[in-house]
Amino acid sequence: MVTQDYGMTETLGPGLGMECINGNGMHLNENYYFELVDPVTKQPTNKNKGELVVSTIYNECYPIIRYCTSDIVEITNDPCPCGCHSPRIIKFLGRSDDMLKVKGVKIFVSQIEDFIFSHSIFNHQYEIVISRKDYKDTLTINIEYKEKLTAEIDKDLSEYTNIVEEEFKSKFGISSKINIVDIKSIKRSPGKVIRVRDLRKLKV
Ligand SMILES: [Zn+2]
Repeated sequence: MVTQDYGMTETLGPGLGMECINGNGMHLNENYYFELVDPVTKQPTNKNKGELVVSTIYNECYPIIRYCTSDIVEITNDPCPCGCHSPRIIKFLGRSDDMLKVKGVKIFVSQIEDFIFSHSIFNHQYEIVISRKDYKDTLTINIEYKEKLTAEIDKDLSEYTNIVEEEFKSKFGISSKINIVDIKSIKRSPGKVIRVRDLRKLKV
C-alpha cells in the first residue's frame, strides 16, 4: 500500500505528517506544535483552514519556532479508525506565496491554472497580468491557443472568449479580460517559470 508523507527541508526532511493505512489524510506528528494562521495577516485562525505554522524543539541544535510553511491546508479532528487522535491534513489548498489578492479577492495561481487547463483549446502557456486603472485592479490573462491561429479560428474565438470570461467570473467572483493569443507568443523565461506580472506597484 502507498501512503503519503509530509515534510520539508527546513524541518529536517519527512515526518511532519504521515498517513496511516486508512489513507484518509496525514496525521500530524505530535513531536511538533502546529498552528493555522491567516495566510495574509499571519494572525492565528480558529478555522480548520489556513497556512500551517510549525514549531519544535525536538531537535535541540536546530529549534524551529513558528516557522511559516507557506502551505495552506485543511485540517480535520474527526476520529480516524486507526485510533490515533492527532489532527490530519486532508487537503492542500495552495501555497501562500502562490496567492494573489485582486479586487479584494484572494485567488491562487494554481486555481487559475486549473481553470485554464480545464479548457482543451488552450496550450498550457499563460500569463497573468495585474494592473491598476483609476484606482481599481484589472486582471488580464493571456493564454496561448493550442495551435497556430488563423483568421477563421480568430473569428470563432471572440464568442468563446466571452464564454470563458463569464465562466471565470462565476467561478472566482471577479471579472477578467481573457486574451487568447497565438501559440508560442508568450515569452518563455529561462529557469523558474514566471506566470504573474503584477504592475500595480509601478502604477498609481
Ligand atoms: Zn489514522
